[in-house]
Amino acid sequence: MVVDREDLPLGSELPVGTRFIGREDDASPRWFGPDAPSDADLSTCVACGLCLPHCPTYRLTGEESASPRGRIAAMRAVADGQADVDDTFARFMDLCLVCRACEDVCPSHVPFGRMMERARSQIEPRRGPGARLLRWIGLDVVLTRPWLVRAAAATQHLVRPFLPARIRDLVPRRSAPFARVPRTTEPTGEPRGTVALLSGCVQDRWFHDVNLATIRVLARNGWRVVVPPRQRCCGALHAHNGRLAAARRLAKANLAAFAGADVIVVNAAGCGAHMKDYEELVGEGLPVVDLMEFLHTNGLQGDPGSLPEPTTVAYHDACHALRAQGIHEQPRALLGRIANLDVREIPNGDRCCGAAGLYNVTEPEMAGRLQREKALAVAATGASVVASANPGCSIQLASGLRAIGHRAEIVHPVQLLDRPSDAVAQRP
Ligand code: SF4
Ligand code: SF4
Repeated sequence: MVVDREDLPLGSELPVGTRFIGREDDASPRWFGPDAPSDADLSTCVACGLCLPHCPTYRLTGEESASPRGRIAAMRAVADGQADVDDTFARFMDLCLVCRACEDVCPSHVPFGRMMERARSQIEPRRGPGARLLRWIGLDVVLTRPWLVRAAAATQHLVRPFLPARIRDLVPRRSAPFARVPRTTEPTGEPRGTVALLSGCVQDRWFHDVNLATIRVLARNGWRVVVPPRQRCCGALHAHNGRLAAARRLAKANLAAFAGADVIVVNAAGCGAHMKDYEELVGEGLPVVDLMEFLHTNGLQGDPGSLPEPTTVAYHDACHALRAQGIHEQPRALLGRIANLDVREIPNGDRCCGAAGLYNVTEPEMAGRLQREKALAVAATGASVVASANPGCSIQLASGLRAIGHRAEIVHPVQLLDRPSDAVAQRP
């Protein structure tokens, strides 16, 4: 069967035979292969519906089939042998952002992210040949090879005119195809130990300045920073899109690259959240910590200083920091230490911006609605700077703010910690 879910209306109808709870004794699952949502995971949902108001796709459609409970019910229908992994099933699963807002608020601790990754792995081999080819080239071929990511960054100006307008608008104009972060940076503050840094694939080519600021701030706070040369893309985009074999290959490559590291600091929320789940994916984990978490837990050495002039910043919570890693206070507390910086809350700031990995490319209509909502909320803060700790969110915010004509600089929070004028003299 080939899945081609183009233009399928969503609708509230769940597959015939869908059950919210319980299971037929003689059920014969319609899953295939080892990567299917487990019965144990599926049975954690008690269909209480408490997650529904927190789900962005349910909020915007009002459809049960676009809610966490409806999606789990659809997975159960397949597990019970009442429905197939078909176009309708694919539509329900593809419209999910995997923002994990439902997981965050669920009293039964439903592991929704894991279930969705496995449900999508069932859909992936059944997509049409065109969709499969594009995903294979983009995810399995390019992102898994650092030299191809460099080539993509170096040639983007040639490709840009041929991209559809909405995708062209998302691709940052500036990139650093040939820049390299230093392999080792000695501490300039009071020495405290060594950390390994994930430089990332997209992050290191299109947000190279963020990596440099990360190294400077860590070094200034007493940390020796090493960037292992054989590290690869974390595999988050592969896992979220159901390409679990490629995600496992990348996880194993990173387990080897970071072997022996006491702590691995990650400055991109999506990458950090995924790497914290390596144990679940490949049976072995890494000591991963988010950059803001790390700096907050260990404390800053001295005062971060003062910005040259009064600045307002709106802090954006990436879902994979807030929901998947429970990071909320740490960045706010760190930014609050910078003099002349006023940190403002974005109204409904816990709502997804619609970036969600490749979601703003694969589901432009829903992503566009969420993007506009977020851009208007950011503009309402009146802030001249937006701090975002995830490259996908930064891209989505920049494009959304341009669309509503609001000018604001988008930075990673570590770039604000790196910025105070009276700290510049200490930079390595
Ligand atoms: S809150 Fe949890 S248990 Fe309740 S419907 Fe949502 S996923 Fe199921
Ligand atoms: S992950 Fe996000 S979009 Fe998907 S069901 Fe949960 S709350 Fe809704």
